Amino acid sequence: MYAKVIVEIGVKNVDKMFTYIVPNKYRDIIKVGARVKVEFGRRLVEGFVLELTSDKRETIDLKEIIEVVDIDPILTSEMLELGRIISERTLCSRISAYQVMLPKALKASYNTNINIKMGKYISLAKDKEEVNDYINKCRYPKQIDILNKLLNSNEIKITKLDSAVNTLIKNKIIKLEEKEEYRYSYQPNKIDNKVILNKEQSMVVNRVIGCLGNSKTFLLYGVTGAGKTEVYMHIIEDVIKRGKSAIMLVPEISLTPQIVDRFVRRFGNNVAILHSGLSDTERYDEYRKIRREEVKIVIGARSAIFAPLNNIGVIIIDEEHSSTYKQDNHPRYNAKEVAILRSKYHKCPVVLGSATPSVEAFAKAGNKVYELLTLTKRAGDGVLPKVHIIDMKKEVKQGNFILSKILKDKIKEKLSKNEQIILLLNRRGYSSMITCNNCGEVSKCPNCDISLTYHKTSNMLRCHYCGYATKKIERCPKCGSNDLKDYGLGTQKLEEELKKEFDARIVRMDMDTTSKKGAHQRIIEDFGNHKYDILVGTQMIAKGLDFPLVTLVGVINADASLNVPDFRSSERTFQLLCQVSGRAGRGDLLGEVIIQTYNNNHYSIVYAKNHDYLSFYKEEMKIRKQLKYSPYYYIILVSITSRDYEYGFSESNKIGEYLRSNLDKSTIVLGPTMANLFRINNIYHFQCIIKYRFDNLLKDTLINLDNHYKVNNKVNIEIDIDPNRL
Ligand code: ADP
Ligand code: ZN
Ligand code: ZN
Repeated sequence: MYAKVIVEIGVKNVDKMFTYIVPNKYRDIIKVGARVKVEFGRRLVEGFVLELTSDKRETIDLKEIIEVVDIDPILTSEMLELGRIISERTLCSRISAYQVMLPKALKASYNTNINIKMGKYISLAKDKEEVNDYINKCRYPKQIDILNKLLNSNEIKITKLDSAVNTLIKNKIIKLEEKEEYRYSYQPNKIDNKVILNKEQSMVVNRVIGCLGNSKTFLLYGVTGAGKTEVYMHIIEDVIKRGKSAIMLVPEISLTPQIVDRFVRRFGNNVAILHSGLSDTERYDEYRKIRREEVKIVIGARSAIFAPLNNIGVIIIDEEHSSTYKQDNHPRYNAKEVAILRSKYHKCPVVLGSATPSVEAFAKAGNKVYELLTLTKRAGDGVLPKVHIIDMKKEVKQGNFILSKILKDKIKEKLSKNEQIILLLNRRGYSSMITCNNCGEVSKCPNCDISLTYHKTSNMLRCHYCGYATKKIERCPKCGSNDLKDYGLGTQKLEEELKKEFDARIVRMDMDTTSKKGAHQRIIEDFGNHKYDILVGTQMIAKGLDFPLVTLVGVINADASLNVPDFRSSERTFQLLCQVSGRAGRGDLLGEVIIQTYNNNHYSIVYAKNHDYLSFYKEEMKIRKQLKYSPYYYIILVSITSRDYEYGFSESNKIGEYLRSNLDKSTIVLGPTMANLFRINNIYHFQCIIKYRFDNLLKDTLINLDNHYKVNNKVNIEIDIDPNRL
């Protein structure tokens, strides 16, 4: 018997199966999908068995499998097939597709040291009469104490074996057992308040439940606060009643702790949570719980789509438009696509939910590829907040650089009423650059073509791209002048300005204040408990937060996301503004939103003001059609990087030529051009963009290109199909 084994080895993308002999002792044990230890070159490595066969085709001498690691295969047949499709569609190696599905403890690797935690438990080994006899004769209070406790409970967990326990075991009065334990537990901090669904919500729930057992994709479009989460929970409740399980994806768990809270409150320990804050051991434990079907609901970010459930009843993807569902590096899978693949396998519906669906998803709903479900009103009696757009060009003339007059007045008003305020600024740090007033020199990162951001608390200049940091300069390195000025605005400076202006309790949430584990959750909890009046933050604060006392949301600079040179910048701006506006007025109090911008006539800002998704969608689709972007064209980004500028440039030109001459005539190849961030960490970035509708030549051309450069270590190419950003 022979096994075809796939291994992960250091060389980029090597994706070959190697044949090994299965020794007799393993013949009855080894299964497809299990990990095995094999010798590769002179190293001992782990790999996955992909095939078992009786005929040997290779003519060379084969080695034997050294050890079978898993009795139960790690990769189910569903996962084996999924990995194959993912590798084909995203041009990633199969081994990387398998590895990304698994927690670290179960990946095929050289050596992982992640163990199962065992707890020690003692219980009685004799019947009660005999135990009582023993107690009566016993002279040791400690032993008597233990036995009395055990007479009242089945078993006791102990931390160490002391002499009393040891004696009782030796005398066969009690027995010791070791049991597996799980290290992670989530405690929700409020009690559940179950609501009665309104008419729209019930219709949505009934429609989805009516399709359980079918592979079908729904797009649930519902304004912020429409009660989508409530809908998800009702669907899942039904699915569980039918003995099936559910996957619920959220963009990023640490940003949406309130959703997790609500699920755990309602479903208790029927929920497993997979998120990036878990340690490898905790993740392993959650994973085992899921595999053993001790939980029916899995909540998590992108990779939770691979949760090893055997009987999925529904897959829900909240905030469907979020770019986090697509992995930005190898393997570049998209959790939404994986969800649909799994839904075909399990014959279950997929629900994609959003207040601001991606134009691609909404277009699919328009073409009846997805079925559209709509929630038009806020649940309960809440209404959408009133949005004001402030033209900052005028404000600046009146000397209001950071806060417009109306925003200042509104903040004062809300503070006096003891209500809460959220302010969004899409840039962390203090100021965006230090400039010399004498010669105009800007402090730039030595490794990247990016100006350094000043962080006042640490008095450092930092590069937000490569992490370079240096003490703040006191004199201009070029002319020696000490007349240095900080321009631009970051969250740190905003916080400082607010402290000067208002007598209020202010908390800041950005990457700098949330680097410690749990910091996020604490800020959100404290703000929720009204320990603060104003929450200042980056886009981290835009999603999913539900605070009834927040009646004012201010967007300090709506242009930051608009000015990004990317075909999705209008869509991202619209989404961000709607999402953050949705944080206001979620309780009984009416909410207001103030958007400060230099582009007060831009359609994404005007439509966001009116919460008018449909008009935004129509306008955006017109532009996408005109400029030939998705969903009218499929987009592929070919990134070319090199430490050597000249070489990178000339290879990029060759790649552009190669694509142009090998792809279909109808396909458009743009570039090569220099990428938006041209130099990062001393690596030069070039790119070509491919736009196509149908191209039979595409796949082979890309595979050839990829293979050609695999062996070249002076230039690296990455092919990103349907990229998040250009
Ligand atoms: P979304 O996920 O669409 O933003 P949520 O599910 O968070 O909306 O609901 C917003 C608020 O409305 C929550 O506080 C929720 O408890 C409440 N809510 C949802 N559905 C109802 C309902 N049918 N009746 C009353 N309140 C509801
Ligand atoms: Zn100078
Ligand atoms: Zn840098």
